[in-house]
Formats: sequence, C-alpha cells, structure tokens
Amino acid sequence: MRKRVRTLSQPSGKALLKRLEAEKVLPFAATAYWLSLACEDYETCSRDERGVPLDPILAQALPSPAEFERGRMETEDPLGEKEHSVLPRVVHQYPSRVLVRASGDCPLYCRYCFRRSLLPGEEGFIDDSGIEALGRYLEAHREVREVLVSGGEPLTASDSRRESLFSRIRAAGKDLTIRVCTRAPVSLPDRVDAQLVALFRRYRPLKVIIHVNHPAELSPRFEKAAETILDAGLPLLSQTVLLRGINDSTEVLIRLFSRLARLGIDPYYLFQGDLAAGTAHFRVPLSRSLEIYRELRLALSGLELPRLAVDAPDGEGKLFLPESIVVREGDFWILEGPDGRRHRYPEES
Ligand code: SF4
Repeated sequence: MRKRVRTLSQPSGKALLKRLEAEKVLPFAATAYWLSLACEDYETCSRDERGVPLDPILAQALPSPAEFERGRMETEDPLGEKEHSVLPRVVHQYPSRVLVRASGDCPLYCRYCFRRSLLPGEEGFIDDSGIEALGRYLEAHREVREVLVSGGEPLTASDSRRESLFSRIRAAGKDLTIRVCTRAPVSLPDRVDAQLVALFRRYRPLKVIIHVNHPAELSPRFEKAAETILDAGLPLLSQTVLLRGINDSTEVLIRLFSRLARLGIDPYYLFQGDLAAGTAHFRVPLSRSLEIYRELRLALSGLELPRLAVDAPDGEGKLFLPESIVVREGDFWILEGPDGRRHRYPEES
C-alpha cells in the first residue's frame, strides 16, 4: 500500500491528476504489481479517441478526460447509499443484509467505481465507535442475516483492526454470515496470507467475494492467493463488472469464468455498469450486454455462469437480467423488479 504509484510524469497525466484533486473525485493509485500485469508502460500507453487506455489493465486504473463528462441519468450516489444509510458507513437497504464500508482506501482505485464520489471522504478503517455502533444496530435488527464488509478495500487495514470489526459482528449474532467483498487478491495478492485466512476462519460463517474483471488479472500470484483462501476451507466467489473496451467480449468472459471455475472460484455476479457520474465511457449498452449474456449461456456450464444483474437507478434495488426486462422504449429500457415497481435504464450510445 505504501509503495502505490500515485503520480504521473507526462504533462497530460499531471493535468488529469490536478483536475481529479480539484473536483474531489476518485484519486489515482495503483500497485506496482497491478501495473506490471499490463502489456504497455503506464506513462506512455496508447489511448483511444476519448483518451482511455487501450490496455484492459491500464484502462481500469488510469484516469482519462472522459471521466469529466456526465452521462444520462448519472449521479454521485447511483445505489442510493445515502438514503439507506443508518449510520455513517453503514447501509441497510435490504431487510436481511447490512453493508459496512469498512475502509475508504484501495490498493487500486478503479476508474469506474460506483463509489468514486464517496471514497475520497472516507479514508481509513472504521473506528472503534463506528464498530460499536454497528454491533448495537445488528443487535437491534434481528432480521439481518448477512453483513457485507466492503469498502473501499476492507483488507487494507491491519488484521487487528479487522479482528475488532469481525469480533463485534460475531458478538452481535453468532449466525450472521460475514461477506468480505474484496479486490485485494487481484490488486495486491500478497496481502492474502496465512494470518489473514486464519482470521477469516475464526469468524465463520464467512464468504469471500473477489471483484475480478479480466483474464489478465488471473496471474500466478492471484492463483496463490485464491488457493490460500480455498485451502482454508472458505467459500470463494467472484463478481465482475461489464466494462466497455475491457471485457465486453464473449470470448474474454468465457476465458475468465471458465478459468475461475477451474480454480475453484464460483462466478457469482456479472454486473451491468452502474450510473455513476463520469463512467458513461465504461458502460456497455444494455442491448450488447444481453447479447453477450445469451452467448455466455450457450457456452458456459451452470457452474461457470454468473447471474447478470443491474442496480436500478437511484438505489431502487438489484434486478436480474434478462428476466426484469419489460420492453425497450427508444433510448430507454423499462425494467420491473420482483415488487412490481418499474424503472427506466438508459441504453448507452
Ligand atoms: S477496489 Fe472496489 S471500492 Fe476500491 S475503487 Fe475499486 S471498485 Fe471501488
């Protein structure tokens, strides 16, 4: 973490970093390991006409001028986390699940992150008073069955900080499932060590969900991290975001999901991009996402195929695709959730 790359030396790169700072959006940071996965040098890489790197690894990490444009229906808080916040850093949107943004720091800041406007204000790991308040909230809400420990990156702090959080969750409910949502196995794989998985084991039931987007992320060091988690007997699943120019290809996704399944990782979710401000250049048109998913269903086994899902605009909940689609009306899709409420989602141009 301390050695992350945080500066760019080319004049265009420097200007972009200044603008990110001025507009208080997601800063730039990437581990040297992450940048080493790319096929090009991050300072001089080729970029498309919008200024987005062509390399799928660099495109996820390097800022581009396209981030300063706002797309249709985009907002700073596309999942409506503020509205569903019950405590600072704690979101209770679905009756059975509570989400805690344990840390605002990430080894790699992903340019398409739906919390890109939120993270700059949430540096550091949740403190003791925040942990205690979460514990009391869980004790008062017995309908909760799962606690999603997310971020930022929840594996950034020391194991003792994480232990404080996990032990308070466990004290609040011995049957609560802890769901650790992490990108560290792909951005900082050496973070996954024997001590960390021993901590995970002490707080079972606990599941680890890895955010992974491209086969180039599945390096030998990633495989070792995954193996360490699996060898400890912990369930390991994956979630992937569909990203234009990065993985919007059936062939790339077949390689990704079949390899994850071979490694013992269950592909869980494939997400349509959220309507986060400044991310339109990453979103795959929904029509194309549905086409890719149809092809994936033909090519992958049930064990290899994740569920395609989209978060309804303004935090109205998760919708599965294609079953939530009612009709396409011009440039918008009409989607219907299990509660019968309808939502509009734009088709990207
Ligand atoms: S690691 Fe997760 S929380 Fe951090 S920037 Fe990437 S997507 Fe966002």
